[in-house]
Amino acid sequence: MKEPRVRPHNFKAVADDDTLPVMVPRNDKAAVPISPDRVRRLRKHLVATLRALRTMKNPEHSVSPVRPDLEGFAGRVARTACSLCKGWCCKNGEDHAFLDERTIARVRCARSALDVRSALRIYVERVPEVGYRNSCIFHGKQGCTLDRSLRSDVCNSYFCGGLQAYLTGDEVVTPTMVIAGAGDKMRTSPILMP
Ligand code: SF4
Ligand code: SF4
Repeated sequence: MKEPRVRPHNFKAVADDDTLPVMVPRNDKAAVPISPDRVRRLRKHLVATLRALRTMKNPEHSVSPVRPDLEGFAGRVARTACSLCKGWCCKNGEDHAFLDERTIARVRCARSALDVRSALRIYVERVPEVGYRNSCIFHGKQGCTLDRSLRSDVCNSYFCGGLQAYLTGDEVVTPTMVIAGAGDKMRTSPILMP
């Protein structure tokens, strides 16, 4: 997933040398009503996924457990980054949101005896009325409308390049500032203290 290059050109103006910059992109798409066509495409995808699940030998063995959220300071930095960025990476969710057999198997197992119709309803009901243009169907103005238990593994485990660099670096617990976007669209967080 190619990310726009973000330059911290005015970083020095807002933070001192001991502050670690974490640079992420920023979604600046317009919010528009979600069309009925998009909901139809989501339904179609879910029906095909539920059908594929029916032909699996042991669907209960294919359940992918919910991946836990990051904890501690790193979790705080990541949540701050994703909230300032407003879900730039969610554009890849399109009308399928990466929902696959393993995710749907998890959702059905967690809610005992969930039939196909109810499984469909759980997702369709969560499509926001207004969402970002050319982004995931669940990408509403307040963020993702699915909680972690309903999201795919892709969504629960993905970090963009900027966050990945921070999380795998050796300065995870140090005063940190998130810089999201570039130019006049850029937003910065306060300095986050461990
Ligand atoms: S992982 Fe978070 S900060 Fe990075 S692009 Fe996605 S929403 Fe933005
Ligand atoms: S399901 Fe949520 S986290 Fe995943 S791409 Fe869609 S809006 Fe983003």
